[in-house]
Amino acid sequence: MPHPLSSPFVRDQLALRATSANAHPVRRGGEYVLYWMQSTHRLPDNWALRFATLEADRLALPLIIHQGLDPTYEHASDRIHSFILHNARELQQSADRRGLRYQFVLRRRRDDDRRTVDRLAARAALVVTDAFPTAGIAERTARLAQRVDCRVVAVESYAIVPSALFIKEEYAARTLRPKVMAHLEHALEPVTDSPPRIGVSEALWRSLDVDRLDLAGDLDAEIARCEIDHSVPPAPLVSGRRAALARLRHFCAESLGDYEERRSDPADPDGSSRLSPYLHFGQVSGAEVARAAIAAAGRPGADKFLDQVVTWRELSLNFCLRNPRFRQLRALPDWVLKNMEKHAADPREAVYSLPQLESAATHHPLWNAAQRELVATGVIHNVMRMYWGKSVLMWSARYGDALRHLIHLNDKWALDGRDPSSYGGIQWCFGKFDRPWGERPVWGTIRSMSLERAYKKFDAKGYEKRWDGDVRQL
Ligand SMILES: Cc1cc2nc3c(=O)[nH]c(=O)nc-3n(C[C@H](O)[C@H](O)[C@H](O)COP(=O)(O)OP(=O)(O)OC[C@H]3O[C@@H](n4cnc5c(N)ncnc54)[C@H](O)[C@@H]3O)c2cc1C
Repeated sequence: MPHPLSSPFVRDQLALRATSANAHPVRRGGEYVLYWMQSTHRLPDNWALRFATLEADRLALPLIIHQGLDPTYEHASDRIHSFILHNARELQQSADRRGLRYQFVLRRRRDDDRRTVDRLAARAALVVTDAFPTAGIAERTARLAQRVDCRVVAVESYAIVPSALFIKEEYAARTLRPKVMAHLEHALEPVTDSPPRIGVSEALWRSLDVDRLDLAGDLDAEIARCEIDHSVPPAPLVSGRRAALARLRHFCAESLGDYEERRSDPADPDGSSRLSPYLHFGQVSGAEVARAAIAAAGRPGADKFLDQVVTWRELSLNFCLRNPRFRQLRALPDWVLKNMEKHAADPREAVYSLPQLESAATHHPLWNAAQRELVATGVIHNVMRMYWGKSVLMWSARYGDALRHLIHLNDKWALDGRDPSSYGGIQWCFGKFDRPWGERPVWGTIRSMSLERAYKKFDAKGYEKRWDGDVRQL
């Protein structure tokens, strides 16, 4: 009988999405296939899991799914730990229901250098992991691939349309849009997943000698014991695939039809999907979101939304994959860099340090409100995020300081931070993906956005009021 995952569609997708991270062959005598889950925190619509399942079945081996969390990632905090751990509890239940073996290992101290993945890899025939260009994940994969002596393969699940189809850096949304949209319908073909044919025996499971976290236990107490930044508290957003899917359903039923009009009003909490944290951690896939939108509104009804979740999201992915300087000014087009040279010495209206920005201590109540929203909730409304980013460009002595400060604030406080869209969005404020506009002081020909104009476009006073108060006490 043909394998349920062996359709030509799955084969073609995996050929585009899977990349070897080293030159080692599959280890002969390996006891299992290891899926090291790093950025795709879900079981359905997970291309790395599909690849690992097919390989396990081909090699007649069982499959072990391993997720770990340690305190060494940049800006490790209660906010990020909590979002990951609460989803892991759901993942455990979901894996049990599907007959999959999933384990979570929490490394609490920075000086604890037990390398669980290395020990698991030493007995594996093959390690499969997620391909992801940001949040230090590609670097972790590359380091593991060098240390171990079995094959390591990274598989992309982030993209709806495989990024391998677009090998050059795209200039703007208008250059990627027709290409990515031409592949969309095909890329959304649903796949029926199946568990691996060979289960994990109790003897093997016990022999792994891994300090598994009891995910049914008190997760907040576990987080409190971790050597991470406890001054960044958990965000109020409920983590997990159940919450993500509920939000997706609600958005498609209530808001998708008016998305174009409603998405620009920060006073309308349901005007956009607010799915970015779930998408960032892979609790739901871009393809699932796009399919649900098309099913609810059809095309062209869902087109404006698809433009964001497909074109803009994959434009940022393309940027981070094809431009290794995506966190630096040097990633910007020549017209921007020339412009910055010309306007470097222009007098600034105000100059703020990182601590002043972080504590929402600027002269502008609307900017401070956006920063407070970020600190309190882990997100800023899309429209305010643009004003927030553009203002820092104006209030920094050097353009490079502005970029560094924005990346720091977003990576540290945003629940959807450290994503390809984080760097695409921030660099957009500096002119990436855009064109030159009329010349002005400091901006040069970069598109300007003044906070004053926001008062004419939406109820900015109401937004200020909502996020009033001391940033640490919200
Ligand atoms: C300064 C700045 C920083 C940003 N930082 C982030 C970030 O850290 N993480 C992040 O996911 N997005 C970021 N963005 C892009 C965008 O603001 C957010 O994706 C969007 O506001 C998330 O809200 P939503 O889920 O309601 O979006 P919706 O409007 O409902 O869109 C659905 C999804 O499409 C994607 N998307 C929407 N707009 C964009 C965009 N302009 N670029 C790339 N993808 C997009 C997101 O995955 C989003 O969840 C940033 C933008 C700016 C200007």
